[in-house]
Amino acid sequence: MTEGRTYDAIVVGAGPNGLAAAIELARNGWSVAVVEAESTIGGGTRSAETTLPGFVHDLGSAIHPFGYASPFFRLLPLEDHGLEWIHPPAPLAHPFDDGTAAMLERSTEDTGATLGPDAEAYKNLMDPLVEDARRIEDTLTGSPQAPRHPLVLAVAGLRSLRSARGVAEVMFEGEKAMGLLAGNAAHSFLPMEKRPSALFGFVLGTLGHAFGWPLPKGGSQKIADALASYLRSLGGEIYTGVRIRSVEEVPRTRTVLFDVTPRQLLDIAGVHFTGRYRRALERYRYGPGVFKVDFALHGPIPWKAEECLRAGTVHLGGTLDEISAGEAAVARGEHPDRPWILLAQQSLFDSTRAPEGKHTVWAYCHVPNGSTFDMTGRIEAQIERFAPGFKERILAKNISGPAELERQNANLVGGDVCGGYMDLRQLLARPMIRLNPYSTPAEGLYICSSSTPPGGSVHGLCGYFAARAALSRRKRGLVTGARLDELC
Ligand SMILES: Cc1cc2nc3c(=O)[nH]c(=O)nc-3n(C[C@H](O)[C@H](O)[C@H](O)COP(=O)(O)OP(=O)(O)OC[C@H]3O[C@@H](n4cnc5c(N)ncnc54)[C@H](O)[C@@H]3O)c2cc1C
Repeated sequence: MTEGRTYDAIVVGAGPNGLAAAIELARNGWSVAVVEAESTIGGGTRSAETTLPGFVHDLGSAIHPFGYASPFFRLLPLEDHGLEWIHPPAPLAHPFDDGTAAMLERSTEDTGATLGPDAEAYKNLMDPLVEDARRIEDTLTGSPQAPRHPLVLAVAGLRSLRSARGVAEVMFEGEKAMGLLAGNAAHSFLPMEKRPSALFGFVLGTLGHAFGWPLPKGGSQKIADALASYLRSLGGEIYTGVRIRSVEEVPRTRTVLFDVTPRQLLDIAGVHFTGRYRRALERYRYGPGVFKVDFALHGPIPWKAEECLRAGTVHLGGTLDEISAGEAAVARGEHPDRPWILLAQQSLFDSTRAPEGKHTVWAYCHVPNGSTFDMTGRIEAQIERFAPGFKERILAKNISGPAELERQNANLVGGDVCGGYMDLRQLLARPMIRLNPYSTPAEGLYICSSSTPPGGSVHGLCGYFAARAALSRRKRGLVTGARLDELC
C-alpha cells in the first residue's frame, strides 16, 4: 500500500467488471487501485469449499459462454495468468420425462438430430447466426468484418426481440426444440411470454455452437484470479476488506468507477447527482432472485438420459409449457412446485473440483426478489425426477437463498444475479437512457457494473466500456481525498 498516494483512478468493487475496468485503465497507462468490500476478490465469480473439504463449489457463476467469447477477455493474456478453459463434450443437455434429452451440441446438425421433427428447422435457423458470430466478435475488437448473412441477421435480430413462446411456436413443431429454446430463454429471468426472452435463447444457442459453454479449471475464482494477476502485472493494486460507504471514503483520485448497482450507487454518491439522475436510479428495477444449492455427491448424477453426463450444463424443466408456468409463477411473486433449474456438473470434466470418484453439483432456481422460501426440497425433487436415485448420492449440501447471496456480495440485491431486471426497456435504459450510460452527472464518477450495458454475466464488457468512457475524458481535479492507508 502506498501512503498518501493519488491514483489516476480507483475502482470500487473487484467483480469481473471492476477488474476489467481497472485492466483497461492500467493498459492505457493510468495508475489504478481496486478496493473490494469482501475478503476475497471476484464478486460473482468466486469459488470456495462450501460443503466438505476438497469439494470446490462456485459461489456465483459456473459456466461461461460469455466469458469465453468475450471480445475483451480475448484480448488479454489470461491463460498466461493461470486461466484454463475446459470444454465439456456437449455444452448443454435438456432431459425430458420419457428418458430422452435434447442436446445442444457444438454442431447444429448433431443438435438437430436430438430434436425430432425440428432437425432441419433448427439447423436452418442457427447456421447463419453461428457463421456470423465470430465476425461480430471481430468487429467488436476493432477488426470490422461485414456479416455474411446481413438479411438473416436482421430478421433474427427482429425475431429475438419477441417472446420465447412467440418464436418457439412459429419456428418449431416438436416439444424438444421448444423446450430447448425455452430453457435457454429462461436465463433472461423473464416469463416466456415477455419480450425479449427469445433473445437469450438465440444468443446462448449461438454461443454454444460458435464458442462452446466452457468452465474454468479449478472453479470460476480462477477467472477473477487471472484478471487480478494480469492487473498486478500492469502495476494495478488491489485491496480487500475495504467497503466504501461514501464518495468521501474513496482513496485520493481523479476518477472513480463503481462496480455496484444503482441502489448502492445512490447511497454512496447520491448527494453528488442531479435530481433527475437520482430519480432514475431510485426507479431502477431489480429482477427475480436466485435460490442456490451446492451438492457434494459420492457419484455422478444418475441421469435417466445418460447423454446428460456429456454436458457441463443441464436445464431441468421439461416442456415449454412447464418452464413457462414456473417462470410466470415467479413473476407473480409465487414459488413454483416444479421450478426451472439451471444445473452445472463441473467435476465430471474437472478432476480438481472433488476428491477422486466424488462430484460437485451447482444448481439454482428462480424465486421472487427477496424471497425467504426454502426451495431445497423442490430443487431436489426436480433433479430426482430426471435422475432417480440422485438424493441417495448426496453427501452434503450448502444452501444460499437471496439473503445469503446478498450477504456474500452486496450487488446481489434481493438475490438478483443480473444487476437488475433485463426486460427490453431496462436492457436499453441501463441504468437510464443516457448518451453515455457509464458516466454520471458528477464529474469523474462512473458506474461499471452489470447494471450497465450489455448487462449480466461474466464478460467484463461493462467494465471495459466504462473504462473507455473514463479514458475519453480529460483528467480533471481530485474528486476525493481519503487516504488508502487509513481505510485498509
Ligand atoms: C449464483 C450466481 C450464479 C451465476 N451464474 C453465472 C454463470 O453461470 N455464468 C455467468 O456468466 N454469470 C453468472 N452469474 C452472473 C455473474 O456472476 C455476474 O453477472 C457478474 O459477476 C457481474 O459482475 P460485476 O463485476 O458487475 O459485479 P459483481 O461480480 O457482483 O462484483 C461486484 C463487487 O463489488 C463489491 N462491492 C459491492 N459494494 C461495494 C462497496 N460498497 N465497496 C467495495 N466493494 C463493493 C462486491 O463485494 C463484489 O465483489 C451468476 C451470479 C450468481 C450470483
